[in-house]
Amino acid sequence: MKPQVLIVGAGPTGLVLAIALIEHRVPFRIIDKNKGPGEASRAMGVHARTLEFYRQLGFANEVVNQGIPLGQVYIHEGTKVKAQMSWVNIGEGLSPYPYMLSFPQDDHERLLVQQLEARGVSIDWNTELASFSDEGDHVRAVLKQGDIVQEEQYLYLCGCDGVRSSVRKGLDLGFPGGTYEQLFYVADVECESQVEGMHMSIYDKGFCSFMPLRTRGLQRLIGIVPMELLDNNTTIGFEEIRPYVEKYVGLRVKTVNWFSTYHVHHRVSDSFRKGRVFIAGDAGHVHSPAGGQGMNTGIGDAVNLSWKLAAVLHGKADESVLDTYEAERIAFARVLVSTTDTAFQNVIGDTLPGKIIRGIIIPYVLPFMFGFSSARKTVFKTVSQTRIQYRDSELSSGKAGNIHGGDRLPWVQTAGSDNFEPLKSLNWQLHVYGQAKQLLRDFAKTSGFSLHEFPWTSTMKDSGLKQDSLYLIRPDGYVGLADTDQDVEKITAYLHKFKLSPLYNKQPHGE
Ligand SMILES: Cc1cc2nc3c(=O)[nH]c(=O)nc-3n(C[C@H](O)[C@H](O)[C@H](O)COP(=O)(O)OP(=O)(O)OC[C@H]3O[C@@H](n4cnc5c(N)ncnc54)[C@H](O)[C@@H]3O)c2cc1C
Repeated sequence: MKPQVLIVGAGPTGLVLAIALIEHRVPFRIIDKNKGPGEASRAMGVHARTLEFYRQLGFANEVVNQGIPLGQVYIHEGTKVKAQMSWVNIGEGLSPYPYMLSFPQDDHERLLVQQLEARGVSIDWNTELASFSDEGDHVRAVLKQGDIVQEEQYLYLCGCDGVRSSVRKGLDLGFPGGTYEQLFYVADVECESQVEGMHMSIYDKGFCSFMPLRTRGLQRLIGIVPMELLDNNTTIGFEEIRPYVEKYVGLRVKTVNWFSTYHVHHRVSDSFRKGRVFIAGDAGHVHSPAGGQGMNTGIGDAVNLSWKLAAVLHGKADESVLDTYEAERIAFARVLVSTTDTAFQNVIGDTLPGKIIRGIIIPYVLPFMFGFSSARKTVFKTVSQTRIQYRDSELSSGKAGNIHGGDRLPWVQTAGSDNFEPLKSLNWQLHVYGQAKQLLRDFAKTSGFSLHEFPWTSTMKDSGLKQDSLYLIRPDGYVGLADTDQDVEKITAYLHKFKLSPLYNKQPHGE
């Protein structure tokens, strides 16, 4: 079948978009100018929301089995540990993946490539997007493979081509924001002794942290190059950093496997879409790696875009549904970039708030707060991206209990399973926690929407759900419409707005 979508870039964003489009039965081509998957370990943190998407796509267990869940976080003052916070099952009861998983990006990308290949699709490596133009009813793309130049046509083009995105530049989109003056370093190292957990030290000359990488014994170091080293105009290698690492986090390094320095930007593109061309991932937003949100946000973009493209290409939604991709994802990217920027400036800055955060809040207040389950839950929800919501989206409507249209469906366990199991269908579905009315059952039968009734439990109330209410769930696991009355007319009006219908009659996973 002729490819309808061109994905430019086979980093995490492009790879997840590709896997999701396969699951949604959309023919596409994926190209990358590199000769193979990335070889730097870059992003380490894989968050719960990403794993929840991977479960929908059918390979969460493979990722979980290869990663290391974060255990203890230690705050250092020099070689001494000043405070300790446990991240073990920090999101218990909130997600089937109640932790942060450490899984290096190069291993992660290789796993995604394997998932693609297992589905019968290969990436066209050594293939570069040279130029493109939106012709109104299609996109014309000029691709270069060595000396060979090809001109092709697609219905849509998705630029998942990283921070220097040629797609973003081709669309003439601004990328406002800035670049931090601080120089970051990253190193993958072997240590003299076995170290467990994540260790960090925030001191007045910067910060330094390390966490386990791949197998125990290997560590990932991230930090800021001390200004005094930069002032001396020294070439920065690990040997210049070593004394600080030993002094501030007490790490004795035996072998350095990889060392690199880099400047960090904080920018969001003016737009994520122009006509038939989209951008996603680092092409649209970049920010400080502290908090480990970048890659996970790109994967969230890919999942959001995939089902909307599929719905339009399968004739199951009006083309205007594609407008909601930018509206939903750019809003989150802007909040993320500004909050990580503010947090970063405050923690590092030589200001009074910075001194209070470093001297009091991080070593004393934060560990004290971690003793309370409500504080742990708030931290988990924020870091894990399970808190992301699209309440202001045109696709969101209604409220039942504490759950609004646009919220992520809260995770609840049911007898022998959970309410996320049906999300594997990657299709619209009706959920009722309690009992469905006969009118709703009839609607489900005639309209083709699958109806899932979950016997009411008190945990459901704790999650914000309301007994006997209806939740119309989108293919990406967010609530589209919430309604306490199970009103079929409201559902019909909601669906009519974007001419929505079930993506498939038979479910992709054979439900
Ligand atoms: C040191 C470091 C540490 C980080 N740590 C974290 C972390 O802990 N957690 C986290 O979430 N994020 C982290 N990040 C960020 C994370 O690495 C990025 O957010 C992620 O790689 C973005 O994925 P992407 O697919 O959008 O872009 P990329 O990974 O940049 O992939 C873009 C791809 O597009 C290809 N390409 C570009 N132009 C073209 C073209 N014209 N034609 C064809 N192909 C093209 C490139 O070859 C590349 O393979 C870190 C980044 C760095 C540098």
